[in-house]
Amino acid sequence: MTAARRAALRALLPTGVDGLLVTDLVNIRYLTGFTGSNAALLVHGDGDAQSRLCTDGRYRAQVAAEVPDLETVIERACALTLAGLAAELGISALGFESDQVTVDAHAALAEETAGTAALVRAPGLVQQLRMVKDDAELAALRTACAIADAAFTELIEHGGLAPGRTEAEVALDLEYRMRAHGAAGPSFASIVAAGPHSAVPHHGPTATPLRAGDFVKLDFGALVDGYHSDMTRTVVLGAAADWQRELYALVAAAQAAGRAALSPGVDVADVDAAARGVVVDAGRGEEFLHPLGHGVGLQIHEAPLLGATGSGRLAAGMAVTVEPGVYLEGRGGVRIEDTLVVTDGAPEVLTRFPKDLLEI
Ligand code: ZN
Ligand code: ZN
Repeated sequence: MTAARRAALRALLPTGVDGLLVTDLVNIRYLTGFTGSNAALLVHGDGDAQSRLCTDGRYRAQVAAEVPDLETVIERACALTLAGLAAELGISALGFESDQVTVDAHAALAEETAGTAALVRAPGLVQQLRMVKDDAELAALRTACAIADAAFTELIEHGGLAPGRTEAEVALDLEYRMRAHGAAGPSFASIVAAGPHSAVPHHGPTATPLRAGDFVKLDFGALVDGYHSDMTRTVVLGAAADWQRELYALVAAAQAAGRAALSPGVDVADVDAAARGVVVDAGRGEEFLHPLGHGVGLQIHEAPLLGATGSGRLAAGMAVTVEPGVYLEGRGGVRIEDTLVVTDGAPEVLTRFPKDLLEI
């Protein structure tokens, strides 16, 4: 599976570039399966026989197990070591991830390759590949989303959302249940926001107790094989007031419009506009405080950005979130978020927990 990804990367190398020095650890994981904390990868334009993966002695056994199909080099200063091998591997123009390498690291690479190989900026190539998920990635995302669904269902069934419990207790309970269902951990710090806190898009859980009548907004996900799920649900504790019903219905309509706009070939900014238009038409455009969604995979936020400033078009196999929110400062807010996969037909919804207004 990772060999196919390296082959796809070769096809993206700029003309005249003989290989790419990959230093971003997430990109290295994507291209090789290696999960250690220190590595560099040289993807040679001619093939895997001349490609090299470097890590240090702590990972000698791990790299052999995780990456049996590439020749490895054991050194601590991995990027410099592989750059130093470029010339003897026949590379005269070495691409590097100029969007990842620091100014100081670039100076060291330039010194290492002086007189033997030219360094060529090659930003974003692996991120571009990562936007479209392969079958193994989709399987991990499906599992991660199913675990989050199961944990949330269980939390509610066991009375975990009740007046008197604190936001922090609910977050811990949810994270425990995700781990119990097989997650390696939460995919990011869970958001549990009750009452007026629900109007803060990224409110961190506090010791504030949940109260009857509150909106409770929960944004959370599970981590499986390095893949992140991402889901937001907003519920009401007890019977919803009219303003809560209205706000919820508005966000639900915007979310449905966003989902309906997910098709291959659609400009990402147009997906945002489809959902945002519903909120703007209701006079609440100023209270929708963030882009509609984002790509999700080995990182919780990755390309593409579904927002007015995003660029590019959707393609089948992209995994993205659709998460409009409307936030009434001091009162409460609603966000409804799914993780979905773009397909040639209707998008596949991975986060399947229902989206009807839940009064608990
Ligand atoms: Zn989220
Ligand atoms: Zn999200």
